Amino acid sequence: MKFKYSNAILLFIIILGCSSPPPKEVTSKKKPVGIVIHGGAGTILRENMTTEIEDAYRKALANAIKIGYDILKNGGSGQEAVEKTINAMEDSALFNAGKGAVLTAKETIELDASFMDGATLDAGAISGVKTIKNPISAAIKVMSNSPHVMLSGEGADQFASEQGLEIVDQKYFFTDRRINSLKRVKEAEQNDKIISSLDEAFLRNNRFGTVGCVVLDSEGNLAAGTSTGGMTNKKWNRIGDAPIIGAGTYANNNTCAISATGWGEFFIRSVVAHDISALMEYKGLSIQEASRIVIHEKVATLGGDGGIVGIDNQGNVAMEMNTPGMYRAHIDNDGNLMVKIYKDE
Ligand code: ASP
Repeated sequence: MKFKYSNAILLFIIILGCSSPPPKEVTSKKKPVGIVIHGGAGTILRENMTTEIEDAYRKALANAIKIGYDILKNGGSGQEAVEKTINAMEDSALFNAGKGAVLTAKETIELDASFMDGATLDAGAISGVKTIKNPISAAIKVMSNSPHVMLSGEGADQFASEQGLEIVDQKYFFTDRRINSLKRVKEAEQNDKIISSLDEAFLRNNRFGTVGCVVLDSEGNLAAGTSTGGMTNKKWNRIGDAPIIGAGTYANNNTCAISATGWGEFFIRSVVAHDISALMEYKGLSIQEASRIVIHEKVATLGGDGGIVGIDNQGNVAMEMNTPGMYRAHIDNDGNLMVKIYKDE
């Protein structure tokens, strides 16, 4: 059989093909992920800190945020990342949420939490609950397993129990630290150091440690959650901004996910979380610029203090505060971890 010229070319191509390098690994089409958390804002000063306490906070923040980051990196949903990250902070006695919640004037615990899904604009919230170990999980259940957005008080506790969430005795939440701060605040109140319940210093300094988490997941969806015990010595079933969608928590895939911490009354009046989103949506501002305006101009002008953490749909991050400190942490898509406490860090 004659060896044709065309066969020679074919053979040449086959040999060339065999010796050429293997095709490049197909790069993942997954979108970048990002996560930011806070553990409360306020008058957090170096002079009031010991190295041990500072280390404990930094470790607790790092441990919690890594839980959420791993979920996101493995393709998990933003909802799961927010829930599990906040659960870790709720289980730590360091933060004013879950286990470490502050006490009310009646020496009880009343917890608030909310969650929002930026893809669907679905949301869930609970307020004034007394026995739910992880309030953020209850807020998510309200969103997914009830026709409502917000449940409060006994009914919310009952709903969480019916949903199979862990229910605990109030004693679970009582820590020496919070019992002592309630005592100090009450003493000050009796000694007339506090002129009225609206005394600034009193309100500014009795509420540190609310927790929050915002994420961008690998599907490009945003989610936000916030959980708190509110303010020490709170009365009359006071509710802050944390469980109010648009004030303490907001997420919208068109713009950003925000979780706030600070003097709740001012954050409610400034509708902080939604206002940041609205400035982005209607004015085209960046997340940093929108957050700066709301925290430093709007909230501060009214006389309120606090901060926010936020992430936009491109993974850009904001950590804005008008207080000397805010416990906070961020992990970017490449896994770079940043943990900070003081404003000037
Ligand atoms: N915003 C919370 C509240 O007013 C407290 C805080 O974030 O420090 O209940």
